Amino acid sequence: MELPELSATAIAKGYRAKEFSAVDVTRTHLSRIEKENKELNAFLEVFDDALEEAKKADARLATGDASLLTGIPIAVKDNILIKGRIASAGSKMLGSHVAAYDATAVARLKTAGALFLGRTNMDEFAMGSSTEHSAYGPARNPYDHSRVPGGSSGGSAAAVAARLAPLGLGSETCGSIRQPSSLCGLVGLKPTYGEVSRYGLIAMGSSLDQIGPMARTVADTQMLFAAIRGEDPNDGTTLPDSSGESVQSKKIGIPRSFIKDAAPDVVQNFETKMRTLAAKGYELVDIEFPSAPYGLPAYYIIMPAEVSTNLARFDGMRYGLHVPAKNLLEEYELSRAEGFGPETKRRIILGAYVLSSGYYDAYYRKATALRGVIAEDLKRIFDTVSYIATPTTPGPAFRIGEKGDPVSMYLEDIFSAPANLTGIPAISVPGGFVEREGNALPIGVQFMSPKRTEGALFSIARDLLGEDE
Ligand code: GLN
Repeated sequence: MELPELSATAIAKGYRAKEFSAVDVTRTHLSRIEKENKELNAFLEVFDDALEEAKKADARLATGDASLLTGIPIAVKDNILIKGRIASAGSKMLGSHVAAYDATAVARLKTAGALFLGRTNMDEFAMGSSTEHSAYGPARNPYDHSRVPGGSSGGSAAAVAARLAPLGLGSETCGSIRQPSSLCGLVGLKPTYGEVSRYGLIAMGSSLDQIGPMARTVADTQMLFAAIRGEDPNDGTTLPDSSGESVQSKKIGIPRSFIKDAAPDVVQNFETKMRTLAAKGYELVDIEFPSAPYGLPAYYIIMPAEVSTNLARFDGMRYGLHVPAKNLLEEYELSRAEGFGPETKRRIILGAYVLSSGYYDAYYRKATALRGVIAEDLKRIFDTVSYIATPTTPGPAFRIGEKGDPVSMYLEDIFSAPANLTGIPAISVPGGFVEREGNALPIGVQFMSPKRTEGALFSIARDLLGEDE
């Protein structure tokens, strides 16, 4: 098999069998990037020290004191800080912002010896489902270059799917790992809120954000997750280490009235995958999840509220783009007008509106209450089943420019929202292909499970894909 085809797990094995070196692996990925990235626009920057780092990894591998991630190339979303590197969050506002410290996830990967190939394209400040809101141009879907790879972690998804890297780090606020994973045929995990530190992740919606892994196999996804997770004194919302929870049964709840509006071929594919699982001993149960359709509207109140506060710090004074003007107010105005793109501005305005006195009760408080109702529904559902399954997205990758109406883009995350709003983990697993304009496009199946049961998600994902332990 060609080196870029290998999974991270297979590369780690190859190192131990001395079949190839980290320098070999890095070289072949760099040459893949050289060949493909102009078109795909998955990487915004490829790091100039990747080969140097590969040499160090080889030295470490030779001592025998290496981890499974030593010398494994990884693509990092542009909103996760790597000390001394630009982290622009896909925005002009932070176009020259150099990270002053490592994100905890990055620090842990450095300790493990992982090799950072570069930073990947994304929707500005992680707002979007296509990477079309990047200030640096859209990334493209490797399966059809006229289509989006999804977003906001679309650059990492395109990079991993196109074999430019075996592993990708993404972030989620509502679907930004699962949706691009679905659209690019990858496995992507949104961890339990608090399982992975947010320290060094440029904030979008702090009560929703999580960093998570993207890969081509379940084993790789699990390996990357294991390396980045865990309590962190720098993020007070991280959860104390535990041996992990387990689920009680192999019962899968299917909220049929919630998923009925997905594209007919997507639903059909989903049903086929459910039958595969039934044949492997899972029990399929129809469930009612009446609050689920309200997840997205609640998210589109809560998230902009948090965005408007988190992005207030970009005032042209402390850091970020600075546009000189004749007085302070004008400097604020011009810096923000120039630095932020249209979608970011839309959400800041919406967020300031829903938090303003008079509207706070009508919108923000109601959305927060809905969040509680969804959590109660989930508690009731998880009393009877261990998993909830849905398609990850209502359809496959759409054409660049097709979803100009913001609301039609927002609907991409209809099935993602409940997990982010309630903090439960969810995984997207490759779930077959559907045809659009003569092209076979990947789609994903999503599984959700109770908090801290990522292990159960990995095992159902393995069962679906027929992947060995
Ligand atoms: N598509 C969602 C949004 O636009 C998801 C963002 C995310 O998960 N970072 O807000």
